[in-house]
Amino acid sequence: MPFSDFHGNPDVVRRVREMLARDRFPHAVILSGPAGSGKFTLAQMIAKTMNCLERPATDDLPDFCGRCANCVRIAEADDLESRFAEAMEARENLREADKRETRILVQTHPDVLIIPPDPPQMLVKVDQVRHVIGEIYYKPSEGRERVYIFSDADFMKEAANSLLKVLEEPPDFATIFLLTDNPSALLPTIRSRCVQLRLAPLTAAEIEEYLAEVRPEWKARERGLVARLCGGALGRARSFDLAQYLAARQDALALLAPAMGARDHSELFKVTESYRAGADGKSKMDATIRVLYSLLEDLLFVKSGTPEMARNHDMLAELNRMAEQVDFDWIVAATERLGELESGMRRNLLRSLALDSFAAALEKA
Ligand SMILES: [Zn+2]
Repeated sequence: MPFSDFHGNPDVVRRVREMLARDRFPHAVILSGPAGSGKFTLAQMIAKTMNCLERPATDDLPDFCGRCANCVRIAEADDLESRFAEAMEARENLREADKRETRILVQTHPDVLIIPPDPPQMLVKVDQVRHVIGEIYYKPSEGRERVYIFSDADFMKEAANSLLKVLEEPPDFATIFLLTDNPSALLPTIRSRCVQLRLAPLTAAEIEEYLAEVRPEWKARERGLVARLCGGALGRARSFDLAQYLAARQDALALLAPAMGARDHSELFKVTESYRAGADGKSKMDATIRVLYSLLEDLLFVKSGTPEMARNHDMLAELNRMAEQVDFDWIVAATERLGELESGMRRNLLRSLALDSFAAALEKA
Protein backbone atom coordinates (compact mmCIF):
# COMPACT_ATOMS: atom_id res chain seq x y z
CA MET A 1 0.00 0.00 0.00
CA PRO A 2 2.25 2.86 -1.16
CA PHE A 3 1.30 6.57 -1.21
CA SER A 4 -0.38 6.10 -4.57
CA ASP A 5 -3.09 4.21 -2.67
CA PHE A 6 -4.00 7.30 -0.68
CA HIS A 7 -7.17 8.88 -2.03
CA GLY A 8 -7.75 12.61 -2.24
CA ASN A 9 -5.72 15.65 -1.14
CA PRO A 10 -2.81 15.11 -3.57
CA ASP A 11 -1.27 18.49 -2.66
CA VAL A 12 -1.03 17.68 1.04
CA VAL A 13 0.43 14.25 0.30
CA ARG A 14 3.04 15.78 -2.00
CA ARG A 15 4.03 18.34 0.66
CA VAL A 16 4.36 15.59 3.24
CA ARG A 17 6.59 13.54 0.97
CA GLU A 18 8.74 16.55 0.10
CA MET A 19 9.31 17.17 3.79
CA LEU A 20 10.26 13.52 4.21
CA ALA A 21 12.67 13.81 1.26
CA ARG A 22 14.45 16.79 2.81
CA ASP A 23 14.61 14.96 6.14
CA ARG A 24 12.92 17.97 7.61
CA PHE A 25 9.77 16.47 8.91
CA PRO A 26 8.33 18.58 11.76
CA HIS A 27 8.38 17.03 15.23
CA ALA A 28 4.79 17.93 16.00
CA VAL A 29 2.01 17.90 13.45
CA ILE A 30 -1.70 18.60 13.73
CA LEU A 31 -3.33 16.55 10.99
CA SER A 32 -6.89 17.80 10.70
CA GLY A 33 -9.80 16.96 8.45
CA PRO A 34 -13.33 15.58 8.60
CA ALA A 35 -14.08 11.96 9.49
CA GLY A 36 -13.17 9.69 6.60
CA SER A 37 -10.67 12.05 4.97
CA GLY A 38 -7.81 9.66 5.77
CA LYS A 39 -5.98 11.31 8.69
CA PHE A 40 -5.02 8.05 10.36
CA THR A 41 -4.19 6.33 7.07
CA LEU A 42 -1.84 9.17 6.14
CA ALA A 43 -0.17 9.21 9.57
CA GLN A 44 0.44 5.47 9.29
CA MET A 45 1.90 5.89 5.78
CA ILE A 46 4.29 8.55 7.11
CA ALA A 47 5.29 6.30 10.03
CA LYS A 48 6.03 3.49 7.57
CA THR A 49 8.07 5.72 5.26
CA MET A 50 10.10 7.04 8.19
CA ASN A 51 10.94 3.50 9.27
CA CYS A 52 10.84 1.45 6.06
CA LEU A 53 13.98 -0.66 5.63
CA GLU A 54 13.82 -0.45 1.82
CA ARG A 55 12.43 3.04 1.43
CA PRO A 56 11.77 2.96 -2.33
CA ALA A 57 11.22 6.18 -4.28
CA THR A 58 8.17 6.74 -6.44
CA ASP A 59 7.73 9.93 -8.51
CA ASP A 60 11.20 10.82 -7.16
CA LEU A 61 9.81 11.09 -3.64
CA PRO A 62 10.19 8.78 -0.63
CA ASP A 63 7.68 5.97 -0.28
CA PHE A 64 7.42 2.77 1.76
CA CYS A 65 7.67 -0.82 0.57
CA GLY A 66 4.86 -2.37 2.61
CA ARG A 67 6.83 -5.66 2.80
CA CYS A 68 9.80 -5.14 5.12
CA ALA A 69 9.63 -6.13 8.79
CA ASN A 70 9.01 -2.56 9.92
CA CYS A 71 6.29 -1.83 7.34
CA VAL A 72 4.52 -5.10 8.10
CA ARG A 73 4.48 -4.56 11.84
CA ILE A 74 3.36 -0.95 11.64
CA ALA A 75 0.61 -2.04 9.23
CA GLU A 76 -0.80 -4.39 11.86
CA ALA A 77 -2.29 -1.26 13.42
CA ASP A 78 -3.88 -0.07 10.14
CA ASP A 79 -7.09 -1.68 11.33
CA LEU A 80 -7.17 0.51 14.41
CA GLU A 81 -10.74 -0.38 15.31
CA SER A 82 -9.86 -4.04 15.79
CA ARG A 83 -6.63 -3.31 17.71
CA PHE A 84 -8.56 -0.90 19.93
CA ALA A 85 -11.24 -3.53 20.63
CA GLU A 86 -8.52 -6.05 21.54
CA ALA A 87 -6.88 -3.60 23.94
CA MET A 88 -10.26 -2.92 25.52
CA GLU A 89 -10.94 -6.62 25.93
CA ALA A 90 -7.52 -7.16 27.50
CA ARG A 91 -8.27 -4.40 30.00
CA GLU A 92 -11.68 -5.87 30.80
CA ASN A 93 -10.00 -9.14 31.73
CA LEU A 94 -7.72 -7.51 34.31
CA ARG A 95 -8.30 -7.46 38.04
CA GLU A 96 -10.46 -4.53 39.16
CA ALA A 97 -7.53 -2.58 40.69
CA ASP A 98 -5.33 -3.02 37.57
CA LYS A 99 -8.22 -2.15 35.28
CA ARG A 100 -8.45 1.33 36.78
CA GLU A 101 -4.73 1.93 36.33
CA THR A 102 -4.46 0.62 32.78
CA ARG A 103 -4.78 2.97 29.85
CA ILE A 104 -5.58 1.98 26.27
CA LEU A 105 -2.57 2.10 23.94
CA VAL A 106 -2.00 0.39 20.59
CA GLN A 107 1.51 -0.70 19.71
CA THR A 108 2.43 -3.19 17.00
CA HIS A 109 5.98 -1.86 16.43
CA PRO A 110 8.35 -0.81 19.24
CA ASP A 111 8.90 2.65 17.74
CA VAL A 112 5.33 3.50 16.73
CA LEU A 113 2.72 4.10 19.41
CA ILE A 114 -0.93 4.93 18.84
CA ILE A 115 -2.72 6.72 21.65
CA PRO A 116 -6.49 6.52 21.21
CA PRO A 117 -8.89 8.40 23.48
CA ASP A 118 -9.45 6.33 26.61
CA PRO A 119 -12.96 4.99 27.33
CA PRO A 120 -15.45 5.53 28.80
CA GLN A 121 -14.90 9.32 28.60
CA MET A 122 -13.20 8.95 25.21
CA LEU A 123 -10.58 11.53 26.12
CA VAL A 124 -6.80 11.26 26.19
CA LYS A 125 -5.79 10.96 29.84
CA VAL A 126 -2.70 12.18 31.64
CA ASP A 127 -1.38 8.65 32.21
CA GLN A 128 -1.34 8.07 28.46
CA VAL A 129 0.72 11.22 27.92
CA ARG A 130 3.02 10.21 30.80
CA HIS A 131 3.59 6.92 29.02
CA VAL A 132 4.70 8.88 25.93
CA ILE A 133 6.99 11.09 28.01
CA GLY A 134 8.45 7.99 29.63
CA GLU A 135 9.76 6.58 26.36
CA ILE A 136 10.01 9.37 23.79
CA TYR A 137 13.56 10.40 24.79
CA TYR A 138 15.01 6.93 24.15
CA LYS A 139 16.50 6.40 20.69
CA PRO A 140 14.38 4.30 18.31
CA SER A 141 15.16 0.62 18.71
CA GLU A 142 14.33 -0.89 15.32
CA GLY A 143 13.48 2.05 13.13
CA ARG A 144 14.86 5.53 12.47
CA GLU A 145 12.09 7.58 14.00
CA ARG A 146 9.79 7.26 16.99
CA VAL A 147 6.22 8.08 15.99
CA TYR A 148 3.36 8.92 18.33
CA ILE A 149 -0.13 9.13 16.87
CA PHE A 150 -2.92 10.61 18.99
CA SER A 151 -5.71 9.20 16.84
CA ASP A 152 -8.32 11.60 18.18
CA ALA A 153 -6.65 14.52 19.92
CA ASP A 154 -9.27 15.28 22.51
CA PHE A 155 -7.38 15.77 25.80
CA MET A 156 -8.33 16.00 29.43
CA LYS A 157 -6.95 19.26 30.82
CA GLU A 158 -4.09 17.72 32.77
CA ALA A 159 -3.12 15.57 29.78
CA ALA A 160 -2.99 18.61 27.49
CA ASN A 161 -0.73 20.46 29.93
CA SER A 162 1.50 17.44 30.18
CA LEU A 163 1.75 17.17 26.40
CA LEU A 164 2.81 20.81 26.17
CA LYS A 165 6.04 19.99 27.98
CA VAL A 166 7.01 17.39 25.34
CA LEU A 167 6.02 19.72 22.51
CA GLU A 168 8.37 22.35 23.90
CA GLU A 169 11.37 20.07 23.59
CA PRO A 170 10.76 17.02 21.44
CA PRO A 171 13.83 14.89 20.66
CA ASP A 172 15.25 14.98 17.12
CA PHE A 173 14.21 11.43 16.38
CA ALA A 174 10.53 11.68 17.32
CA THR A 175 7.37 12.87 15.61
CA ILE A 176 4.05 13.47 17.32
CA PHE A 177 0.82 13.49 15.33
CA LEU A 178 -2.36 15.01 16.70
CA LEU A 179 -5.33 13.90 14.59
CA THR A 180 -8.50 15.94 14.89
CA ASP A 181 -11.58 17.00 12.98
CA ASN A 182 -11.63 20.24 14.95
CA PRO A 183 -8.19 21.83 15.48
CA SER A 184 -9.70 24.92 17.09
CA ALA A 185 -10.68 22.75 20.08
CA LEU A 186 -6.97 22.28 20.88
CA LEU A 187 -5.26 24.67 23.31
CA PRO A 188 -3.74 27.65 21.46
CA THR A 189 -0.45 26.86 23.22
CA ILE A 190 -0.52 23.38 21.65
CA ARG A 191 -1.49 24.70 18.22
CA SER A 192 1.33 27.21 18.24
CA ARG A 193 3.91 24.43 18.71
CA CYS A 194 2.67 22.28 15.83
CA VAL A 195 2.74 22.41 12.06
CA GLN A 196 -0.81 22.13 10.74
CA LEU A 197 -1.75 19.95 7.79
CA ARG A 198 -5.38 20.00 6.71
CA LEU A 199 -7.14 17.29 4.72
CA ALA A 200 -10.21 18.44 2.80
CA PRO A 201 -13.25 16.18 2.41
CA LEU A 202 -12.96 14.11 -0.74
CA THR A 203 -14.85 15.26 -3.80
CA ALA A 204 -17.69 13.11 -5.13
CA ALA A 205 -15.56 12.37 -8.22
CA GLU A 206 -12.65 11.12 -6.07
CA ILE A 207 -14.97 8.88 -4.11
CA GLU A 208 -16.59 7.52 -7.27
CA GLU A 209 -13.16 6.68 -8.62
CA TYR A 210 -12.33 4.84 -5.40
CA LEU A 211 -15.65 2.96 -5.41
CA ALA A 212 -15.00 1.82 -8.96
CA GLU A 213 -11.99 -0.05 -7.51
CA VAL A 214 -13.53 -1.49 -4.36
CA ARG A 215 -17.20 -1.86 -5.40
CA PRO A 216 -17.04 -2.89 -9.06
CA GLU A 217 -20.35 -4.75 -8.62
CA TRP A 218 -22.21 -1.44 -8.16
CA LYS A 219 -23.58 0.33 -11.22
CA ALA A 220 -22.01 3.70 -12.08
CA ARG A 221 -25.30 5.38 -11.11
CA GLU A 222 -25.19 3.70 -7.70
CA ARG A 223 -21.56 4.67 -7.12
CA GLY A 224 -22.51 8.26 -7.95
CA LEU A 225 -25.35 8.10 -5.43
CA VAL A 226 -23.15 6.73 -2.62
CA ALA A 227 -20.43 9.30 -3.38
CA ARG A 228 -22.98 12.06 -2.83
CA LEU A 229 -24.46 10.50 0.28
CA CYS A 230 -21.27 9.84 2.22
CA GLY A 231 -20.31 13.49 2.74
CA GLY A 232 -16.75 13.19 1.44
CA ALA A 233 -15.85 10.36 3.84
CA LEU A 234 -14.08 7.44 2.20
CA GLY A 235 -14.69 5.07 5.12
CA ARG A 236 -18.42 5.72 5.01
CA ALA A 237 -18.49 5.20 1.25
CA ARG A 238 -16.68 1.88 1.52
CA SER A 239 -19.00 0.46 4.16
CA PHE A 240 -22.16 2.09 2.82
CA ASP A 241 -25.17 -0.24 2.96
CA LEU A 242 -26.67 0.56 -0.41
CA ALA A 243 -29.42 -2.09 -0.22
CA GLN A 244 -30.61 -0.71 3.11
CA TYR A 245 -30.56 2.83 1.80
CA LEU A 246 -32.57 1.96 -1.31
CA ALA A 247 -35.14 0.04 0.77
CA ALA A 248 -35.49 2.99 3.16
CA ARG A 249 -35.86 5.36 0.21
CA GLN A 250 -38.60 3.20 -1.26
CA ASP A 251 -40.49 3.50 2.02
CA ALA A 252 -39.83 7.22 2.28
CA LEU A 253 -41.25 7.75 -1.21
CA ALA A 254 -44.35 5.75 -0.26
CA LEU A 255 -44.80 8.03 2.75
CA LEU A 256 -44.55 11.13 0.58
CA ALA A 257 -46.78 9.74 -2.21
CA PRO A 258 -50.18 10.87 -0.80
CA ALA A 259 -48.85 14.42 -0.52
CA MET A 260 -47.80 14.17 -4.17
CA GLY A 261 -51.38 13.41 -5.20
CA ALA A 262 -51.46 9.60 -5.02
CA ARG A 263 -55.06 8.45 -4.47
CA ASP A 264 -54.41 4.83 -3.57
CA HIS A 265 -53.20 4.50 0.04
CA SER A 266 -52.83 0.72 0.15
CA GLU A 267 -49.08 0.85 -0.60
CA LEU A 268 -48.65 3.41 2.19
CA PHE A 269 -50.38 1.20 4.77
CA LYS A 270 -48.39 -1.82 3.69
CA VAL A 271 -45.22 0.16 4.32
CA THR A 272 -46.18 1.71 7.67
CA GLU A 273 -47.43 -1.64 8.95
CA SER A 274 -43.96 -3.11 8.43
CA TYR A 275 -42.46 -0.81 11.11
CA ARG A 276 -42.50 -2.97 14.21
CA ALA A 277 -41.46 -2.49 17.80
CA GLY A 278 -37.98 -3.53 18.97
CA ALA A 279 -34.42 -2.88 17.84
CA ASP A 280 -34.91 -3.95 14.21
CA GLY A 281 -37.81 -1.54 13.84
CA LYS A 282 -35.70 1.19 15.37
CA SER A 283 -32.80 0.99 12.93
CA LYS A 284 -35.28 0.75 10.05
CA MET A 285 -37.09 3.82 11.36
CA ASP A 286 -33.85 5.77 11.84
CA ALA A 287 -32.78 4.97 8.29
CA THR A 288 -36.14 6.06 6.86
CA ILE A 289 -36.10 9.34 8.81
CA ARG A 290 -32.61 10.12 7.50
CA VAL A 291 -33.71 9.44 3.92
CA LEU A 292 -36.80 11.62 4.37
CA TYR A 293 -34.58 14.51 5.44
CA SER A 294 -32.36 14.06 2.42
CA LEU A 295 -35.35 13.88 0.05
CA LEU A 296 -36.91 17.05 1.51
CA GLU A 297 -33.57 18.80 1.21
CA ASP A 298 -33.24 17.63 -2.40
CA LEU A 299 -36.71 19.00 -3.18
CA LEU A 300 -35.51 22.32 -1.83
CA PHE A 301 -32.44 22.21 -4.09
CA VAL A 302 -34.58 21.37 -7.12
CA LYS A 303 -37.09 24.13 -6.37
CA SER A 304 -34.26 26.63 -5.81
CA GLY A 305 -32.86 25.90 -9.25
CA THR A 306 -29.76 24.04 -7.99
CA PRO A 307 -30.63 20.42 -8.82
CA GLU A 308 -26.90 19.59 -9.09
CA MET A 309 -26.76 19.90 -5.30
CA ALA A 310 -29.32 17.10 -4.83
CA ARG A 311 -27.87 14.02 -3.19
CA ASN A 312 -30.40 11.57 -4.63
CA HIS A 313 -29.10 12.55 -8.01
CA ASP A 314 -29.95 9.19 -9.56
CA MET A 315 -33.69 10.00 -9.35
CA LEU A 316 -33.57 13.59 -10.54
CA ALA A 317 -36.46 13.14 -12.97
CA GLU A 318 -38.71 11.94 -10.18
CA LEU A 319 -37.50 14.73 -7.86
CA ASN A 320 -38.47 17.21 -10.58
CA ARG A 321 -41.95 15.72 -10.82
CA MET A 322 -42.35 15.81 -7.04
CA ALA A 323 -41.11 19.39 -6.82
CA GLU A 324 -43.89 20.46 -9.18
CA GLN A 325 -46.51 19.11 -6.75
CA VAL A 326 -45.39 21.12 -3.73
CA ASP A 327 -44.35 24.65 -2.77
CA PHE A 328 -41.71 26.00 -0.38
CA ASP A 329 -44.21 26.30 2.47
CA TRP A 330 -45.02 22.62 2.14
CA ILE A 331 -41.35 21.67 2.33
CA VAL A 332 -40.91 23.78 5.47
CA ALA A 333 -44.03 22.27 7.07
CA ALA A 334 -42.98 18.75 6.10
CA THR A 335 -39.54 19.27 7.64
CA GLU A 336 -41.20 20.41 10.88
CA ARG A 337 -43.50 17.36 10.87
CA LEU A 338 -40.45 15.18 10.35
CA GLY A 339 -38.79 16.76 13.38
CA GLU A 340 -41.93 15.94 15.40
CA LEU A 341 -41.90 12.37 14.10
CA GLU A 342 -38.27 12.05 15.15
CA SER A 343 -38.91 13.31 18.69
CA GLY A 344 -42.03 11.11 18.89
CA MET A 345 -39.79 8.13 18.26
CA ARG A 346 -37.61 9.12 21.21
CA ARG A 347 -40.79 9.07 23.32
CA ASN A 348 -41.48 5.54 22.07
CA LEU A 349 -44.64 6.29 20.10
CA LEU A 350 -45.94 3.32 18.13
CA ARG A 351 -43.97 3.41 14.89
CA SER A 352 -46.62 2.39 12.38
CA LEU A 353 -49.21 4.82 13.78
CA ALA A 354 -46.72 7.67 13.95
CA LEU A 355 -45.85 7.10 10.28
CA ASP A 356 -49.53 6.99 9.27
CA SER A 357 -50.21 10.31 10.93
CA PHE A 358 -47.00 11.79 9.49
CA ALA A 359 -48.11 10.87 5.96
CA ALA A 360 -51.66 12.15 6.63
CA ALA A 361 -50.32 15.48 7.94
CA LEU A 362 -48.19 15.97 4.82
CA GLU A 363 -51.19 15.25 2.60
CA LYS A 364 -53.15 18.04 4.24
CA ALA A 365 -50.29 20.50 4.57
ZN1 LIG B 1 9.17 -1.20 4.20
